Amino acid sequence: MPIYKLFVLPGDGIGPEVMAEVEKIAAFFTKEGTARFEIEKGLVGGAAYDANGTAISEADMARAAAADAILLAAVGGPKWDGVPYDVRPEAGLLRLRKDFNLFANLRPAICYPALAGASSLKRELVDGLDLMIVRELTGGVYFGEPKEIVDLGKGQKRAVDTQVYETYEIERIGRIAFELARKRRNKVTSSEKHNVMKSGVLWRDVMIDLHKREYPDVQLEHMLADALGMQLVRRPKQFDVIVTDNLFGDMLSDVAAMLTGSLGMLPSASIGEVNAKTGRRKALYEPVHGSAPDIAGKGLANPIAMIGSFGMALRYSFGLGELADRIEAAIAGVLAKGYRTVDIKGDAAKSVSTGEMGDAILAELRG
Ligand code: NAD
Repeated sequence: MPIYKLFVLPGDGIGPEVMAEVEKIAAFFTKEGTARFEIEKGLVGGAAYDANGTAISEADMARAAAADAILLAAVGGPKWDGVPYDVRPEAGLLRLRKDFNLFANLRPAICYPALAGASSLKRELVDGLDLMIVRELTGGVYFGEPKEIVDLGKGQKRAVDTQVYETYEIERIGRIAFELARKRRNKVTSSEKHNVMKSGVLWRDVMIDLHKREYPDVQLEHMLADALGMQLVRRPKQFDVIVTDNLFGDMLSDVAAMLTGSLGMLPSASIGEVNAKTGRRKALYEPVHGSAPDIAGKGLANPIAMIGSFGMALRYSFGLGELADRIEAAIAGVLAKGYRTVDIKGDAAKSVSTGEMGDAILAELRG
């Protein structure tokens, strides 16, 4: 049986609490004999700063490079508000994204039927929702040059950000979206603003060419980013895979996230190029939520986003789709049975702790 090497970075705040639940599940799969995981643990964020004075050590960067997949929980918290900018907790996360060139951010928005009532939209609009936003993560207006504020004199200034994309950047994110769609419902919606932006014109043209050349079997549609924002809250179930740039993706993925209820439910993946030696893409899996210092150490955190992130690692890094399906079914199962952490409690009579939620998912997996 192959051994899957996971590098685990629990980080700060609720990070270690939610990661502990993933470790239980990985240990269960190893014991069950379905997959063998070798887990190494490192420090990131405030925890790394306290230990080494950096947001992630060179030794941990080397371990991350050697692993098949990296799992990170969360970084940050008020304790480190005053630390120097270059070693602040977020710098660890940014270093991982940058050094491994993680150019694609995948954020699924899944609405479990048992939680449809927690959405701000009507139940029938979100019940059974399952879409994926693929956001370009390393280019576009957040990184384009020039990026500056120029003093024009007489009390006037000019601020400039530059939206810039090259063909290869659009092609590689497009490929990720088309490949994903083939494993889902075979539909990609590409979104930009070609009506007012040159980068949008190129984005659209490149997607059309790529589709024609390599993915004619996948349904491709184009939607302006503003219209897509509207459609996401009007009829979200029309979408399968949405692919868009860094800026629009940042906003649209937050909108999609909130269709599903709580931050504690949302996993994500950041994916890079294929490694020629291993044939695998470098990838970092993490929940969307932060370190939640307000509830840290109290056993109140919802571990589902972290467990879902582990499920994404199984599916996208290890090709263990069946195990990922089992995890998703187990999550749906415990929710249907009424298990709720405090963040998704709604009108439920009582809530369970982080550990109890993890144990319930484990029991469901055991069957
Ligand atoms: P947050 O996501 O940590 O928390 C927002 C709210 O959601 C809080 O009330 C929190 O209790 C709740 N929440 C979050 N995750 C939860 C979970 N799993 N279960 C139950 N409730 C949950 O965002 P914030 O409060 O804006 O930031 C707190 C710290 O986290 C800051 O230092 C911030 O910089 C950092 N942060 C880190 C990441 C990351 O590591 N990727 C992302 C966002 C924020």
